[in-house]
Amino acid sequence: MVGLGRFGGQLAGSLIRLGHEVLAIDRNPDLVQRWSDQLDRVVQADATDEDALRQVGITDFDRVVVAIGASLEASVLTVLALVELGVSQVWARATSGKHAKILNSVGAHHVIFPEAETGERVAHLIVTRMLDFIEFGHDFAIAKVRVPQALAGKPLSQVRPIEHHGVRVLGAKHPGKPFEYASDSTVLRPESVLVVEGNLDQLQRFADLP
Ligand code: ADP
Repeated sequence: MVGLGRFGGQLAGSLIRLGHEVLAIDRNPDLVQRWSDQLDRVVQADATDEDALRQVGITDFDRVVVAIGASLEASVLTVLALVELGVSQVWARATSGKHAKILNSVGAHHVIFPEAETGERVAHLIVTRMLDFIEFGHDFAIAKVRVPQALAGKPLSQVRPIEHHGVRVLGAKHPGKPFEYASDSTVLRPESVLVVEGNLDQLQRFADLP
């Protein structure tokens, strides 16, 4: 992974917690020093330099994340160097739509845009009553929602969420009890939290039912 700034540092920490071996490169000696006892290997190098990347053994890794945000030039040149070295999966962080386009055109295999993704996510959470959601493409999402008051106390066989609301209730979690997959006999208790699938608009409408 290249770049131990705020985003790269969080990502490196998560990868370590998930049990992965991480080689991190940053040109800033203070950051290299700070991370040296937490990561397997931290190297101070200029990642735009193909020879330097080769020397640190980057080609032994299948997946490399370029987490540089502020310097467009360093980000693009690093991705280019990794692609030229034949790294099979280059994940690159973009900080704007144009940056994302450039990263795609120089050969990044995956472009992530954390500020835009988080911004959009938080906007949905702020304006609706969904507690959480994850979107897969444009027409499918899974959301965590409270039981709408109008439906509280009713079994799913009566609510018929697919027919009436276009969403499917996958499961329910009652406080203090384990998650249960939903069936027709599941009763929507007022204090339960539901896991529901459908498209995002329908999920929002379901969550926002009175
Ligand atoms: P953040 O917003 O996540 O803090 P920054 O873009 O400010 O992201 O930080 C990116 C990190 O990448 C910094 O620690 C910086 O030292 C490092 N970096 C920038 N250019 C290079 C480069 N050419 N080679 C190696 N590391 C770099």
